[in-house]
Amino acid sequence: MGNGKDASIPPKEENTRLKKLVCCSKCQVNYKSALFRPCCHLNMCIICAFGLKYCPECNSTIEEIFKVILTPLIQTIVSDNARLKSELYCGKCKVEPSNVLFFPCQHHLLCLDCAKDLEVCCSCSAEIRRTKQTFRS
Ligand SMILES: [Zn+2]
Ligand SMILES: [Zn+2]
Ligand SMILES: [Zn+2]
Ligand SMILES: [Zn+2]
Repeated sequence: MGNGKDASIPPKEENTRLKKLVCCSKCQVNYKSALFRPCCHLNMCIICAFGLKYCPECNSTIEEIFKVILTPLIQTIVSDNARLKSELYCGKCKVEPSNVLFFPCQHHLLCLDCAKDLEVCCSCSAEIRRTKQTFRS
């Protein structure tokens, strides 16, 4: 056992925090995958969001729900913590939270800054015709 007396967040708490950011606010099991339009909140999974009329976050009327495809899981990531982090943070700079949705492929992998000059999706190489900023709470 090491004498880990540093001020870092205990892995378990860190895990809970990450889970909250990445997982659906309702079922807390599935990843957030339903993007509400026009408010662009990304807080629920597509299953829990099904049939929803108003965004639970801001109460705006939901006109459309986009399915968001999150970071493909990297097989080398073993711990739950690392896995959650990979879903939350930008796949390029790994500092900013991922908050851009690509159209039409609907991958959600990068932060606004890293996606700025991108012409093709870094995951599936599809042409990026449009991007949309998303908001996780
Ligand atoms: Zn859910
Ligand atoms: Zn909203
Ligand atoms: Zn980035
Ligand atoms: Zn893509």
